[in-house]
Amino acid sequence: MTIAVIGAGHAGIEAALACARLGLKTILFTLNLDAVGNMPCNPAIGGTGKGHLVYEIDALGGEMGFAADKITLQSRMLNQSKGPAVHSKRVQADRTRYRTLMKQTIENQPNLSLIQAEVVSVLTQNNKVTGVVTMLGTVWNVDAAIICTGTYLKSRIIVGENFLDSGPDGMLPANGLTDSLKGLGIKFMRFKTGTPARIHKDTIDFSRLDVQNGDEYIIPYSSLTDKIEIEQIPCHIVYTNKNTHDIIRANLHRSPLYSGKIEGTGARYCPSIEDKVVRFADKERHQLFVEPMGLDTKEMYLQGFSSSMPEDVQLAMLRTLDGFEHAQVMRTAYAIEYDCIDPTQLYATLEFKDIEGLYGAGQFNGTSGYEEAAAQGLVAGINAALKLKNQPPLVLTRDSSYIGTLIDDLVTKGTNEPYRIMTSRTEYRLLLRQDNADTRLTRYGYEVGLISEERYQKFLRKQKMIEHEIKRVSSINLSPNEELNEILRMYETTEVTTGVNLAELIKRPQLDYEKLSPLDATRPEMPRNVLESAQTIIKYEGYIKRQIQEVAKFSKLEEKKLPQEIDYMAIPGIRIEARQKLAQFKPLNIGQASRISGISPADITVLMIYLNKL
Ligand SMILES: Cc1cc2nc3c(=O)[nH]c(=O)nc-3n(C[C@H](O)[C@H](O)[C@H](O)COP(=O)(O)OP(=O)(O)OC[C@H]3O[C@@H](n4cnc5c(N)ncnc54)[C@H](O)[C@@H]3O)c2cc1C
Repeated sequence: MTIAVIGAGHAGIEAALACARLGLKTILFTLNLDAVGNMPCNPAIGGTGKGHLVYEIDALGGEMGFAADKITLQSRMLNQSKGPAVHSKRVQADRTRYRTLMKQTIENQPNLSLIQAEVVSVLTQNNKVTGVVTMLGTVWNVDAAIICTGTYLKSRIIVGENFLDSGPDGMLPANGLTDSLKGLGIKFMRFKTGTPARIHKDTIDFSRLDVQNGDEYIIPYSSLTDKIEIEQIPCHIVYTNKNTHDIIRANLHRSPLYSGKIEGTGARYCPSIEDKVVRFADKERHQLFVEPMGLDTKEMYLQGFSSSMPEDVQLAMLRTLDGFEHAQVMRTAYAIEYDCIDPTQLYATLEFKDIEGLYGAGQFNGTSGYEEAAAQGLVAGINAALKLKNQPPLVLTRDSSYIGTLIDDLVTKGTNEPYRIMTSRTEYRLLLRQDNADTRLTRYGYEVGLISEERYQKFLRKQKMIEHEIKRVSSINLSPNEELNEILRMYETTEVTTGVNLAELIKRPQLDYEKLSPLDATRPEMPRNVLESAQTIIKYEGYIKRQIQEVAKFSKLEEKKLPQEIDYMAIPGIRIEARQKLAQFKPLNIGQASRISGISPADITVLMIYLNKL
């Protein structure tokens, strides 16, 4: 059995490694071997919600977290002033070292061949994949194919009045495959994204910029990484100003975005600088981050300044920034348009509903972001392999993970702009934290065969430690003495007159493990992540319990499976629009049916009654 993975970006890498590690002969195609795992946008992995995805990918046995730990330049845990549900890790990544590392990982992986070739068509018989064909006419017979073509399908970049058929970073576009897939009945959309210029480090006056350092203590992404001890590189902060905004406003007529020349739909949450100046006209300045691209390069990335303005305007805008008066552009900012699919054509396994053995992952599915791509690639790879091994699929539900939430949003609701994960996408934020990604998903990784026995045992030992610690703390009762009340006074929380349980004290917002440590003489040595997980579970016990009850209600609807052969058009009592939607989406269960836009609770009631009669 052979699987073809088309594209060696963040999705394709995870898909190919999963297939090969699960024992399937795998062929990974890419347009350019030197761009495996390329980061055409910000040299960073993680961020709000994205950090959660990376922890979840690691817990399932994926590669991104482990690789990111190895090439981290700087690490920050975002949102630390807020609750643990939104704590999100983000690392500055060495772009070149990440590519090299991922290419080596692929080259050293048994069962996996890496081929530089453009795939221009997918062959099928009776709606089942049988092969792929490359630009040079070579036919590869395969039993499944996973499409991870990113921002390359019929891509073109836009800078001012210039439109060039090109992939990102000067790469070739892939112009053949879209038509072949359209020939198989697959529906496409046209999306766009953009990136800022890269500036030569020596032409920036850093003394005029604010410094942003990394966190003192770095919690790795991967449970395979013991610790990360590096000399972190700082980022810097600069702001746009009135001059910047004036130049942009004076040249909006030359912006392809505002002259309507750009067809593709861009992401509202990732606006270009010209978009920000227009949409937030009242804002006097916008914050930008100057990020290092790697240890062996002078290229600096200007986060927040993406643009498709003409080059002369870009340079004028840039040189209004403090410290950038003599900036030299190494790579011009640009927008890129590309073809991607409507993801409602996929099951939650990421297999196409109408073409057996064909899967989609990454930007090809309408998302944006390395982490979103990697998460989908992993799930598509696992499911393509499991299906060929006649094993049950891996479907991650919304209550299990951000990966499950992302995929359910895509295949059930679809998207009309590049979809980016955010912590607000999930209903179960407190349950889906970074620190418990392994608790939620390692078992699945182990059961499908991507997590080794040794790693699984290490995981079980960690779970035991967390349970013991919670039991230990909950069994400690403190008497109302002066030492205790002195600490309570110090942190301005109510003194006690009767005995109190240590866990109850930890629940108080003003208190935590550290603050109460003088009263907890018996605390054993334990890894920091064990302590942090125990503290979060103790502190948010009530909220977590409530969310677990909500999940129980939700799971009931998810368990009500819907046979795929139901003729929805024949069900009286459901509105015609709803019948058409159900027939198009073929939901797997009542829960998914209830999330399809345009399906009302009344339709669901009728459907449940109909189901009970079957
Ligand atoms: C200019 C630009 C700006 C971006 N800005 C942002 C942003 O602001 N925020 C954000 O979250 N994300 C952004 N991204 C998106 C981010 O880069 C992608 O989300 C991520 O790289 C997607 O990963 P992927 O694996 O789906 O595809 P990619 O990383 O694009 O990889 C696709 C792979 O497919 C290969 N390929 C394509 N077609 C074929 C074919 N026919 N045959 C063989 N191989 C093929 C390519 O060679 C490449 O290896 C941006 C991307 C670009 C290009």
